[in-house]
Amino acid sequence: MVVSVLVEVSSSNVDKCFDYLVPQELENDIRVGVKVNVPFGRREIIGFVLEIKNDSEIDNLKYINSIVSKDVILNDEMLELGKQLKEMTLSTLISCYQVMLPKALKAHDNSINKKYDTYYSINKDIDLKDYKFNDKQLEIINKCGNDKVKRSELIDISISSLNTLKNKNILIEEKIETYRLDHSNEKKIVHKLTPLQKVVYDEFISYDDLIPTLLFGVTGSGKTEVYMEIIDYYLKLNKTAIVLVPEISLTHQLLNRFSDRFGNKIAALHSALSDGERYDEYRRIERGEATIVIGARSAIFAPLKNIGVIIIDEEHSDSYKQSDSNPRYNAKDVALIRSKYHNAKVLFGSATPSLEVMARAEKGVYHLLKLDKRVNGKDLPEIKIIDMNNEMKRSVGHFSKILIDEINNKISLGEQVILLLNRRGYSSFVSCKNCGYTFKCPNCDITLTYHKSSKTLRCHYCGYATKEQIVCPECGEKSLSPLGVGTERIEEELKKLTTGKILRMDYDTTSRKGMHEKMITSFRNHEYDILLGTQIVSKGLDFPLVTLVGVINADTSLNIPDFRSSENTFSLLNQVSGRAGRSDKSGKVLIQTYNPDHYAIKYVKYNNYLGFYKEEMNIRRILKYPPYYYICFIKISGKDNSIVFNESNKIKRSLDRNLNNNIILGPSELFRINNTYRYSIYIKYKKIDNIKDILSKIIDHYKNNNNIKVDIDFNPTH
Ligand code: ADP
Ligand code: ZN
Repeated sequence: MVVSVLVEVSSSNVDKCFDYLVPQELENDIRVGVKVNVPFGRREIIGFVLEIKNDSEIDNLKYINSIVSKDVILNDEMLELGKQLKEMTLSTLISCYQVMLPKALKAHDNSINKKYDTYYSINKDIDLKDYKFNDKQLEIINKCGNDKVKRSELIDISISSLNTLKNKNILIEEKIETYRLDHSNEKKIVHKLTPLQKVVYDEFISYDDLIPTLLFGVTGSGKTEVYMEIIDYYLKLNKTAIVLVPEISLTHQLLNRFSDRFGNKIAALHSALSDGERYDEYRRIERGEATIVIGARSAIFAPLKNIGVIIIDEEHSDSYKQSDSNPRYNAKDVALIRSKYHNAKVLFGSATPSLEVMARAEKGVYHLLKLDKRVNGKDLPEIKIIDMNNEMKRSVGHFSKILIDEINNKISLGEQVILLLNRRGYSSFVSCKNCGYTFKCPNCDITLTYHKSSKTLRCHYCGYATKEQIVCPECGEKSLSPLGVGTERIEEELKKLTTGKILRMDYDTTSRKGMHEKMITSFRNHEYDILLGTQIVSKGLDFPLVTLVGVINADTSLNIPDFRSSENTFSLLNQVSGRAGRSDKSGKVLIQTYNPDHYAIKYVKYNNYLGFYKEEMNIRRILKYPPYYYICFIKISGKDNSIVFNESNKIKRSLDRNLNNNIILGPSELFRINNTYRYSIYIKYKKIDNIKDILSKIIDHYKNNNNIKVDIDFNPTH
């Protein structure tokens, strides 16, 4: 028997299968999709069996060393999906398989183990009447009865009695595999759908095709409730479901709602899990114990069988795109591929759909369903735009008088406030008041960010850090001071303006495991009056007592040189506004801006997504951006600037020669990161035609060139 094994050789571009012989004693356990140890050069490495053959064209084959685990790690669907992913992203096949697997199952990792609990039970072969027991021992024996009881529960009674019973062979100890997470829940909460929700549900169920559906529903319209009802429908047909949510900030509340209804049927896959927890959840899915998978981007690869529906909540979120490493895939595209394999329906949900998805829904390429009323019957919150150009004189720090007064008013009524610091593309840095000097990272062409609590200046790209300084290295004056707004700074200002208790939530305060969830719970329990934070506070949270949402600086995200900056700003402001007035009390939103006439801000005020959509589509059409054109982003990088520059120009010329029907822009220089010089080339195209052929050739050409790295990103989100 010969097997064809796909190996991962780290820091190399080897991406092909090698043939190996299988020793006779292992033949019975060999399946396509299992992990094996193979000799490779002088090393032993791990790979996936992709094919089983009778013989090979190659002579003198080596034998595989062993089978890592008899479990099939890549099933037929995943084996095929990996090939399609490679086709779609032009990445290596091994990277496409690796991205589908949790860390514990990746080719090279063997460090995570199953977890066991220790149980006791009474030895059935003895007669208890033959023994005499003291009180503690009796208590232990009674507790065991006919069941297996956890050792930890028996220790609480008496550890010495426990040991005596064990030594006398009256109790028998055994280890049973356990899972690290437990979603079991007795509540089984089911809400009856409102008539509007019912219409949407019925429509969706009635579709008998696999065309994806957009559920365009305002914030608080009860989309999540509709998702759960739809999932219930498919579970009753013995099918399974995937629900994707953007990131952990959304996952906890959603998970709670799902476990309140579905209990242990759910499995969670998100970034806040430990490797062990993720491994357990993954195996519960594989074994068919969990039938609903809820998670972030990579949960789209969950090894569910017989999928009935794939739901992608907050469809517009850019977190569904893997942008920072290969394969640069979008979970939404993977959803469509899996939908075909399983005959599963796909549902995209959003209050602010991406232009791409909305355009398809408008054209009838997707089904379109709407929920335009809130469940509580309340209007969407009233939104007021505060023109900071006029408010300057009356404002204290970054707060207009109107906003401060309203914050204090709400707090005095016993209500809660959410404040958003829109910091996308903006952070605080240190600059010299005398000469204007700013600290830059020595490795990257980027200003260092000031971290007040640790008194350091840090590079958010390469991790470089240095102590805060007082004297300007340029002019020698003691005039260095922090500029730009950070949450810490706003919190300080706010403390002087209100007596309300402030909870600051940003990536610094939530990085510790479990912190985010803890903060959300304490805010929900009204231990704080004000939740202050970055983008993290804008998404999906549902706090009944929040009646005021304030946006401190709406503009920062508008100023980013990205064709999606208006769309991102509109969506962010709309999302955060949606946090106000979600229960029986009406909500109010105050947005501070220096650009009150910008169309993104104006349409937010009137909660007019469709108005924004039309205006933005017009601009995209004129400027030849998505959804009218597709974009492919090519990044060329390396340590030697002149080599990178020259090769970038060669690539550009080769594209020009071969792709004369497309718009090719660049190369333009990107800022340096970690002493790596980077150039970008963009292709704008309507039809993919031969673009992938040319790009594959380019990738191949540079494959073994250590001076140049070429990364390809189709439909980038930045
Ligand atoms: P969305 O996902 O559109 O923002 P949610 O599903 O979170 O909306 O619904 C908003 C609030 O209304 C939640 O607190 C939810 O529990 C409640 N809700 C939604 N649908 C119903 C229903 N049919 N009956 C009772 N409460 C509901
Ligand atoms: Zn740096």
